[in-house]
Amino acid sequence: MAVQSLEKLLVDELRDLLSAEKQITKALPKMAKAASSEELRAAFEEHLTQTQGQIDRLEQAFEILGHGARAKKCLGMEGLIEEGKEFLEEEMEPAVRDAALIAAAQKVEHYEIASYGSARTWAQEVGQPRVADLLQATLDEEAETDRKLSQLAETLVNQRAA
Ligand code: FE
Ligand code: FE
Repeated sequence: MAVQSLEKLLVDELRDLLSAEKQITKALPKMAKAASSEELRAAFEEHLTQTQGQIDRLEQAFEILGHGARAKKCLGMEGLIEEGKEFLEEEMEPAVRDAALIAAAQKVEHYEIASYGSARTWAQEVGQPRVADLLQATLDEEAETDRKLSQLAETLVNQRAA
C-alpha cells in the first residue's frame, strides 16, 4: 500500500477514535452512576479523567499530521454503547448489574485497544513517531483499564461467594 493512502487510513481511524472517545465521555458518568460497587464506580470515574486526556492526545496527533481534529461518527462504539444501555433499563440485582457493566466496559476497551494498536502501527509505518508515541500512551492506558476491570470482576465474584 502506498504510504500516502496509509496516511489517509490513519487520519480516518483517528477521526473514528475521536468520535468513539467523545461518546465514551458521555457514557462513563452514566455507568459510574449505575454501578453499586464503590470500587467499580471509582474505576469508571478514573477512566473518564483518562479519556479526557486521550482526547487531548488525539487532538495533538491531528495537529502533528496537519489535519483538523474532526470526528467521524464511530458506529462501532455507538453500537456497543447502545447495547450497554439496553440492560440498564432492565430490573437487575445490583451485583448482576455490576457484572454486566464490567462486561460492557471491557467490550469498549477491547474495541479501543484494536483501533489504537492499528493506528499506532500505521503511524510508525508512515514515519510519524511522535504520533505513534501518543497513540501508544493511550493504548497502554486502555490495556491497563482492561486489566483492572478483569481484576475487579474477579474480586466481585469472590465477594459474592463469601
Ligand atoms: Fe479511550
Ligand atoms: Fe478506554
